[in-house]
Amino acid sequence: GGRLSIVATPIGNLADLSDRARKVLASADLIAAEDTRHSSRLLQHLGISKPLLALHDHNERDRVGRILSALEEGSHVALVSDAGTPLISDPGYIVVREARKAGYAVSPIPGPCALVAALSAAGLPTDRFLFAGFLPAKRSGRRSALAELAGQSATLVFYESPHRILDLMQDVVDELGGDRECVLGRELTKAFETFYGGSADSVLAELQADPNGTRGEFVVVVKGAPAVVDGQAIGLDSDKLLQLLVAELP
Ligand code: SAM
Repeated sequence: GGRLSIVATPIGNLADLSDRARKVLASADLIAAEDTRHSSRLLQHLGISKPLLALHDHNERDRVGRILSALEEGSHVALVSDAGTPLISDPGYIVVREARKAGYAVSPIPGPCALVAALSAAGLPTDRFLFAGFLPAKRSGRRSALAELAGQSATLVFYESPHRILDLMQDVVDELGGDRECVLGRELTKAFETFYGGSADSVLAELQADPNGTRGEFVVVVKGAPAVVDGQAIGLDSDKLLQLLVAELP
């Protein structure tokens, strides 16, 4: 019967496309793509020619019907986005939800994802993280979103476009504090991959000083707030945490 494969594609380096992804794309009957022009270039590079269906945030609801009827006919449908893993700050959620609801098999073909790539190399805690995607484009909305996250002890991960990266970092300084540790990954997997790390205010200064500091794509990783017990910051020191807890026991 019909099945839906969710296929991760490279975030910059074409060599990151998995062998399995290539095979699934080559065997699919229909490829649903965020931007068909963009994906046809990837498919051309792979020597694959398939019918494409445009699926973007604005028409996803309408296109679900087309995809469901293809599944009903027994087709194997592959879903790709412009870069990385579909549904991660990209379209596909409604299609996956409806395909599952209708009882079709939905399988991930895992691969590149900018948030995981950044987190894996940032050197900040990864045991708990909160992916917040793109914060609101307007400063007031962005600031209140950051204010809500200020006490969060999990590592925070954001996506941001190059023309707003300085504004985001300024807001991080103002809402989370200039001494909050951050690591920015720029142009991951590409020729000009760069990491900027340190306190939020030093990272902001470094970006401002770098002529390439507002070019390319960014993932922003921010250390979580120190955990607090009884008004005291305890950081990750579990001995101290135990002492504080023991002191509270009757
Ligand atoms: N679905 C994608 C994924 O799996 O990562 C994310 C799509 S989202 C529309 C695009 C954002 O992801 C960019 O604005 C940037 O924040 C981040 N991004 C994508 N590729 C990147 C790269 N090579 N280096 C750094 N950030 C990247």
